[in-house]
Amino acid sequence: MKKILVTGGAGFIGSHLCDTLVEKGNKVMCMDNFATGHTYHISHLLKKKNFKLIKHDVIKHFFIRGRIDQIYHLASRASPVDYQKFPTSTALSNSIGTYNLVKLALKKKATLLFTSTSEAYGEPKEHPQKESYWGNVNPVGVRSCYDESKRFGEALLMAFHREMNADVKIVRIFNTYGPRLRPGDGRVVSNFIRQALTDEPITIYGDGKQTRSFCYVNDMIRGLMMMMESNYVGPKNLGNPREYTILELAKTIKKLTGSKSKFIFKKMPEDDPTKRQPDISKARELLGWKPEIELKDGLKRTIEWFKILPLIKNHNNNHDY
Ligand code: UDP
Repeated sequence: MKKILVTGGAGFIGSHLCDTLVEKGNKVMCMDNFATGHTYHISHLLKKKNFKLIKHDVIKHFFIRGRIDQIYHLASRASPVDYQKFPTSTALSNSIGTYNLVKLALKKKATLLFTSTSEAYGEPKEHPQKESYWGNVNPVGVRSCYDESKRFGEALLMAFHREMNADVKIVRIFNTYGPRLRPGDGRVVSNFIRQALTDEPITIYGDGKQTRSFCYVNDMIRGLMMMMESNYVGPKNLGNPREYTILELAKTIKKLTGSKSKFIFKKMPEDDPTKRQPDISKARELLGWKPEIELKDGLKRTIEWFKILPLIKNHNNNHDY
């Protein structure tokens, strides 16, 4: 049995990770500041002996007594709408937060896995994106609080690894979706499902020809854990390589929900990447990982979850349910 700290453990990906780690019999400490995380995601775990909740912000100093074997650092806002509203806390959770965690990892001789992002590639000039691609990022743009702080987090961990032999791992997560996405978080899958279920217009930004590649959350959790158990530092891309245009996604969601929603076209947000698709050869060959859940199946499960959310109309609130 391992003792594992998950930061952002009450969030979308973090809470699914806590579920699996607890189920496997590990002792899990979930740290969250509840900026976007929600107790609803972890309330079923609070009764378990091998789960502990620590309400804390990774930006602020902390120390945890006793042994820690592994740390997964997922604490950060991840929706472009969210992080552009709160750019400083976003930048700091990936910089100061990562610094606090690597210091803890060194003290405890723990392995630290940092969840970086496909946004590290910015507006990519290489397609699909391999880990060897350095990216094309606007360092002062509206997304820089997120993409540059993730890039800095990677650089910081490589510095600690090279100079102090810190045991670190870096993954670059591509667009991930599934149950527990906040309906009001502003990202494309949550917006489209919420709009489709309420027959509101589906908001397509730009002409909808921009692409993304969507990975179901269970596949992502498996990838994160395989990376943690591996001997690799990374970075490794984790994502589903099947690429869709945003218009294709909108049509699929409309069909799956049987919605009467119309499509409306809105201005493309600033610095919005025109394409994104992971090259996952490394994760495939070295970790033996590949996604298994098709978009339609994953969307069906996500739609079912959105249907049971009691206050789906109150989606502008951060804590929408
Ligand atoms: N998007 C859209 N309509 C929406 C929300 C997003 O067309 O209601 C587009 C957005 O412009 C981007 C893509 O969907 O091109 C994915 O956006 P998201 O915010 O989910 O995440 P990103 O991949 O940009 O980080």
